[in-house]
This record gives sequence, structure tokens and C-alpha cells, in this order.
Amino acid sequence: MADWYPFLLYAVSRENVLPLTSACNLGCLFCSNRQNPPGIKTFRLPPLPPEQVEELAGFLTPGRKVIIGESATRIDEGEPFTHPYILEILRFLRRTLPGTLLAVTTNGTLLTPTVVEELASLQPLEITVSLNSVNPAVRERILGDREPDRAPQAVKMLAKKGIPFHGSLVALPHLTGEDDAEATVRYLAAFGALTVRLFLPGYTRLAPPELCFDLILWRELRAVARSLTAELGVPVTAEPDPPDNFSPEIYGVIRGTPAARAGLRGGDIILAVDGREPRTRVEAFSLVKAARAPVILFERNGAEAMTILKKERGDTPGFVVSFDFDPDRLDELAATIRRHRARNPLFVASRLGVRLVEQAALHLGFGKDSVTVADNLFFGGSIMAAGLLTVSDLQAATTAALRHRTPDLILFPREAWGQVSTIKLNTPWSQV
Ligand code: SF4
Repeated sequence: MADWYPFLLYAVSRENVLPLTSACNLGCLFCSNRQNPPGIKTFRLPPLPPEQVEELAGFLTPGRKVIIGESATRIDEGEPFTHPYILEILRFLRRTLPGTLLAVTTNGTLLTPTVVEELASLQPLEITVSLNSVNPAVRERILGDREPDRAPQAVKMLAKKGIPFHGSLVALPHLTGEDDAEATVRYLAAFGALTVRLFLPGYTRLAPPELCFDLILWRELRAVARSLTAELGVPVTAEPDPPDNFSPEIYGVIRGTPAARAGLRGGDIILAVDGREPRTRVEAFSLVKAARAPVILFERNGAEAMTILKKERGDTPGFVVSFDFDPDRLDELAATIRRHRARNPLFVASRLGVRLVEQAALHLGFGKDSVTVADNLFFGGSIMAAGLLTVSDLQAATTAALRHRTPDLILFPREAWGQVSTIKLNTPWSQV
């Protein structure tokens, strides 16, 4: 069995992510596949033979969005349309999973008129075009795109065919000039992108100096994203942009959706869904998604109002919220703490997630001082995410915290492990 096979199975069976190939026809300067410190084991996947894809498809969950072109594990994700059998694979998935949304992320360069025509017949489909830049000179220089008009043209073709799509870009104003990201967002919005994800640039300690920048840039880009959202009427989300509270605030509303028709707007705070008060943004979104014609009580500019979202159970509401905290996770944390009879737990959080973990600790009846930060020392640079914390990072943070406190339970972020992990002091590892 190939080394990568267990990772492949994990991605498919747990995340509904179907990796097809690690090959890519571009060479983006910022590609994360190039910046891994030595010692990080990642896998390059050859284009999977169609029969292997058919076998793997048996592990996908029907009815749950199937994701192609996004990485979920240590497998380097490439450009799905470089796969020689991509259309056959998409047709096969459409036949075997009728009605299941197929979400495909692509750099757009291989979306020819024939491919787009074919895609139009494979709906429900959700395409995300990682355009990165609409400027041909920037595309050549930063993305290594030798035919830089293709991807912007693909956006136009998707719009013309009525194929719903989202846009994304890595904002690199320190490399491309201040206006490039904004022009790219405007282009995507003008052709009907439902949402645009503006990824904040990042670099590890091994990145060349030209990729490094002052982190003030993140604050500026987040402000640009908010202002474009208000101006264009398209949710432009800066990522990462973790909120520092659980207030169920709507970030933006997608045009033509139940939320837009019900009159909801960015900045509205959801107070109740069918009378139930959501604990977090994620819970508010889930409650609305699960309900048929939910009655929403919300707050706008200090005044309360009510509206009904005309939608069926399971349909997406059409508003966007920043991801804060999964309420199931709050329940799980509470259960773990109860099971261990812990009275003085220590929550270890990533630098990015610390404000949210503090909110979770407060919600569970503990103080903010029960939370300690683990910095991403191994990757360094601007990396601050829990999913990229290593054992040595967690060990360093825990050792420092244990110098001045004696917790009876230590909780680590599950993103670093793949699942929630706890250490009960004086006992072996336990995991839930
Ligand atoms: S398109 Fe994506 S996978 Fe390909 S080089 Fe650029 S960032 Fe890497």
C-alpha cells in the first residue's frame, strides 16, 4: 500500500474530500507546497486511475458536499483539471451521487468552453475559482501563468452559463501592488461570484525575504474585505479573521438567496431562530440551515426585528458568518471536563484561536486565565493556526504554563491532532 493511502482514505471517509492529483500547471510563488520546513512529511499524489476513484467514491457520504481540489491532509492538493480523466470522474460522481453538491476548486486556467459546457450539465455544482489576480502581468510573474488570459475568461464563461461560482485569491499587496487584490475582487463580483474569499498572505520561517511582511497588513486587508462587502453587496471574507466573541453576527448576505429576500443584512445579530437562542455564530447558521421557514429574531442598530426565511430544511440560508465555535464542541468539552472531574483545566490554544477559546472557557465556567497560547515555533513566520501546531510547540507552551500553575486536566486543540486530545495529569494519554 502506498504511504499516502491512509491519508487518502481519511480525507474521503471523514471529510468528504476527494483528492485526485497533486499535479498543477501553475507555479505560484506563495504555494504552501513549497514552504514546508524539513522534517514535514507530505505526499505527492499521482493522478489517480479512474477505477481507484470509483473505489474511493464508495467511502463518500451521499448528500454531504463532496469537495475536490482542496487539501484536507498531508497530501499536496493540485489542480483537478490537470487530471486526464477529470470529466469522466465528475460524470461518474454525478451518476452515483445524484443531487449531491460537487464542490470543485480550480485555478480556472483549464476551464475551456468545452469543459464549461460540460460542467453546466453536471449541476448541482459549486465551483471556486482561485483567480488570485486578474492582471496578466501579475499572473505571469507571481503565478507562473504563461497564458494569463485563460482564467479571467473562464470566470466570464461560468457567469454566461449560469454556473454558480465563488472566487478566491491570496492577497499579496507587498508583491503585486496595493490595487491588485481589490481589482481582482471587483472583477469576480462583477461577473457574479457568490462570495469571494480573500486569503491573507502567510509565510513560514523558511520563506524567502520577499514573501515576508509586517503583520499590520492583515489588519489592513481585513478592513478592505469589510469595506468591499458593504460596497459590492457580495460577501468578501478575509481569512483568517477569527472573531473575538460568539455574538451571532451576519458578516454578509449572498444576492438572490432566502436571507437576501428576507431582508437580512451584514451586521445584523441573530437573537433567536424559531425561539431558540444560538450560543455562537456557527450554531445560528446551523439552526437556520436545518429549519424550514425559520422565524428569525434579529437586532439591527440596537432595535429588534423579525423575519421569516422562506426555505426548505437543509437549504443554505444565504448569509455568511465568520466561523467562531461549533456548539457541539462546547458540549464535548463540557462532557470531557465532567468525565475527568476536572476543576482546574488548562486550555491550550493557538495564537489565532485564543480569543475564541477564552470565550469557550468562560462559557464553561472557567476564567480567561485557564487558557494559554501555543505559538507555532516549528513553522514560525506568520503561522499561528492550531492545525499547524506540532507536538514540540504544544510541549513548549505546556511546560511554560506548568511553571506557574497546576491544572488537573490539559486540553489541546483537536486541529493539531485530528481529534480532541486531553491529558489527565498522572494518567496516560486519553482522547475523545
Ligand atoms: S494553483 Fe494552487 S496548487 Fe497550483 S501552484 Fe498555485 S497555489 Fe499551488
